[in-house]
Amino acid sequence: MKAKKIERELVRILGEDNVSSDVGDLIPYERDDQFAFISPHRPDIVARPSTKEEVQEILKLADRHKVPVVPLASGINRKGLCIASKGGILLDLRRMNRILEINEEMMTATIEPGVSFGQLVEEARKVGFRVITPYAPSTASVLANYMLRGIYGTATRHGIDHLINIEVVLPDGTILQTGSAAFNQSLPYCNIVNGPDLCKLFQANPGTLGVITKGVIRLYEMPEVIEPLIVVYPDYTSMVEPSIEMTRRELVASCWPMMFTGAAMKILTNSMNEDVYMMWLYLEGDREQVERDKETVEKITERSGGFFLPDTPMLNRDTMIKDQIWERTSVSGWKGGNMYGCSFYGVMKLATRYYEATRKISERHGFDAFHYESVPVAPFHGQLTYNDPCIFWNGSNTEEIKEIKELHEEIKRSLIDIGIYGWFRPFPSVVDLSKLGRYGEMWKKIKGLIDPNSIMNPGKPPL
Ligand SMILES: Cc1cc2nc3c(=O)[nH]c(=O)nc-3n(C[C@H](O)[C@H](O)[C@H](O)COP(=O)(O)OP(=O)(O)OC[C@H]3O[C@@H](n4cnc5c(N)ncnc54)[C@H](O)[C@@H]3O)c2cc1C
Repeated sequence: MKAKKIERELVRILGEDNVSSDVGDLIPYERDDQFAFISPHRPDIVARPSTKEEVQEILKLADRHKVPVVPLASGINRKGLCIASKGGILLDLRRMNRILEINEEMMTATIEPGVSFGQLVEEARKVGFRVITPYAPSTASVLANYMLRGIYGTATRHGIDHLINIEVVLPDGTILQTGSAAFNQSLPYCNIVNGPDLCKLFQANPGTLGVITKGVIRLYEMPEVIEPLIVVYPDYTSMVEPSIEMTRRELVASCWPMMFTGAAMKILTNSMNEDVYMMWLYLEGDREQVERDKETVEKITERSGGFFLPDTPMLNRDTMIKDQIWERTSVSGWKGGNMYGCSFYGVMKLATRYYEATRKISERHGFDAFHYESVPVAPFHGQLTYNDPCIFWNGSNTEEIKEIKELHEEIKRSLIDIGIYGWFRPFPSVVDLSKLGRYGEMWKKIKGLIDPNSIMNPGKPPL
């Protein structure tokens, strides 16, 4: 009865075309490839707003009736973050896809949550700017990705935080502007206001504090020269010192020390089937600077026992440059079925230990299609690195589902034993508030303060 009443109200707000409770319309939202950790669940209704005023009305309605709301910006997140674990309204924001401004002077873009990387890259390029992009499909939402803080090709030089300000519709339907927009909405280009930076408070909360309806993000100058290099090493340990040195001396914009087992290479390339240890580097800047940096990088490589890989049809200079500035049309490489990842922030000098421990666990559980990367991230103080042990696996095999669940618990325990800074994103299968002490308690209190009826994406951290 209540469901029918809410549906009628939603139709009044959005019109019939943008509300549905038909099973056929709901099924696409009920699961993602993380189903081994987050059980599939169907929302009761999907609603597709196109303005912040509509979002305000929907949240007021949901709050009044204590109905869960799950925001979805593009829905490609692989980690169960958009699964409506308690049913309710799936708020599909893909119609909110306007680029509101590209400000050349301030080097910013102001965008809605449905704007994709593909869309923004194209617009920004028209005025000579670059968008910092993940290695995700080009349909991924820029705001959702920046809100969750991602990992990017250029993380070594430009870091992982490109969000300046946001506009958020809170669960009671009121609007919060962060940063300078709180003070002067016509000058929203600065995250500094009189008090704390509330934009950061909303980052890494997976739709659990409100709905972001607008964001101001940083754009960057396109460098004059992008020089890609691939260096091959005999083992993981040999890559650690050179990557620390190249990063500290600011010689590279990107530095990706990676390991692929032969089985993983076979999935990715169909041809190569040997274990490889390789470092992907991108040098960027004006011609003179890149030439100078390249000379130093060559010396470091020689000293550390690496050798440069010549161009091959699959890995060549042209495709690597296109990847770095997002001039690609497809993402390949995930054709092995499901991909497990347990990404985290750690210490570069411990990268070999992380790699060896996770590879051993992976082999013990029968998974040989293993891949590891540890990427130094700016600012590099304390050797901060993004690390990702990944496994290609088969989600249709019930034995493998059982193994991957056990493996996940073992990987988490062994990484914590070695010592890490924390997990990459607020994924429900890794974040445990009880391990976060006073910080965990405060996070929960803040959630209670902002969302007292707990309508926003229940089942996701902070639980
Ligand atoms: C093949 C592949 C490769 C990838 N590589 C990378 C990579 O290299 N680096 C990287 O950073 N990521 C990578 N990703 C992850 C991808 O970029 C993220 O999934 C994406 O940025 C966020 O997903 P989305 O845009 O579909 O958001 P969604 O899945 O729609 O949302 C993600 C979360 O944010 C919440 N949310 C969404 N919109 C709002 C809003 N407006 N207000 C409040 N909450 C909201 C949702 O409720 C959900 O919890 C990869 C993904 C794939 C599939």
